[in-house]
Amino acid sequence: MEGNFNQISLKSLINFIFLSLLLISAISPSKTSKTPSNIITRFQQYLQINTAHPNPNYTQSSNFILSQAKSLNLESQTLEFVKGKPVIILKWSGKNQNLPSIMLNSHTDVVPAEFHKWVHSPFDAHIDGGGDIYARGSQDMKCVGLQYLEAIRRLKSDGFEPVRTVYVSFVPDEEIGGHDGAEKLAESEAFKKMNVGIVLDEGLASPNENYRIFYAERCPWWLVIKATGAPGHGSKLYDNSAMENLLRSIESVRRFRASQFDVVKAGLKAEGEVISVNMVFLKAGTPSPTGFVMNMQPSEAEAGFDIRIPPNADQKSLEERIAQEWAPSSRNMTFELGQFKQKGSVHDKFGNPAITAADNSNPWWSLLVGAIKKANGKVGKPEIFPASTDARYFRELGLPAIGFSPMANTPILLHDHNEFLNQAEYLRGIEIYESIIAEYASYVEPSPTRDEASRAEL
Ligand SMILES: [Zn+2]
Repeated sequence: MEGNFNQISLKSLINFIFLSLLLISAISPSKTSKTPSNIITRFQQYLQINTAHPNPNYTQSSNFILSQAKSLNLESQTLEFVKGKPVIILKWSGKNQNLPSIMLNSHTDVVPAEFHKWVHSPFDAHIDGGGDIYARGSQDMKCVGLQYLEAIRRLKSDGFEPVRTVYVSFVPDEEIGGHDGAEKLAESEAFKKMNVGIVLDEGLASPNENYRIFYAERCPWWLVIKATGAPGHGSKLYDNSAMENLLRSIESVRRFRASQFDVVKAGLKAEGEVISVNMVFLKAGTPSPTGFVMNMQPSEAEAGFDIRIPPNADQKSLEERIAQEWAPSSRNMTFELGQFKQKGSVHDKFGNPAITAADNSNPWWSLLVGAIKKANGKVGKPEIFPASTDARYFRELGLPAIGFSPMANTPILLHDHNEFLNQAEYLRGIEIYESIIAEYASYVEPSPTRDEASRAEL
């Protein structure tokens, strides 16, 4: 009896433990590697690495990315075009190596943060009661980099096999111009070998339910206008002083700025579709030990402007406006559009506007929009990115590049204090990328119909 009893109780004990384990795993899904809590933890780990300028910790971010790649069984390659500035390329090989590949790009660096102006420290990745994850880079753009990988993790565990090769690239220095990162990558032999057919890069958060998709970006012109004129006594009224001449220019720039801004305010164009001009510095005056000499009109005065130009704007007429209206030599004025007062190009290397077609003529565009909708996401009207991203280096090569960061119902906080992303929105983004990567990696260009083929022969 004793033995029997023991047997029964042992059996029921085992059953009890087994059922309890089942129950525990059912109600707390955080125990497996696929579950949200691990996904969020990995996101927090990436956010906690301080990759802010001027001293981004690229060693730590690279180690983290490479460890993720290992856990996903992805091939990895670290390219250092400039020492200490690693470009990491992860590769998920497709079944058909002849088809152009897909490149999912993100930058690993972030802009600095003023710690004392944040409610939660910018590199703690603290999650508040409502699920908002506070961190520098939570929107721009560590979210995207890791969402690519999480989407691949899911696709792999579902047994998905890509037809096209998928590359995931992590580049440094985007926030300081990308010259040692994406620009070098785009120019490299390594990139040519990758045979990339489409690049995805960053977009912006959307305060409403529609995701934002960007097909081009404005290019920066950094303009410095210099005025010179005869110096004179502070009490004297005379024409053509440096200050007077510069002020007339500034007035003229302001009128142009207002005309562009009015179009945006009236809702006729989006921010990215007009030319923006903002004065960023003013330099004049004769210094004295206590400040400035007050009874003297200076012989030189300077002002700097940040100008952003959409790719379809008339660059030539803007150049004429600068030369004739804003800095006319007849008023002793000169201007510079140089390096740092940089004059970018809105054209690709073939001389075409650097624009990715945002309609059905571009299968990558239709596939992206279709994939987002398939995952129950909503899409806004195609937009021009108001500032610069690394995507321009790929568009300059004539490649299609689309800017997209899946963040709906989120305030735009990139480069701002208290940048955050809600964890539910982050998880939604992974589903969206899962859908996009599946569509992109399965896409095989339809072979021409017999009719098209015979017409081509003619
Ligand atoms: Zn960014």
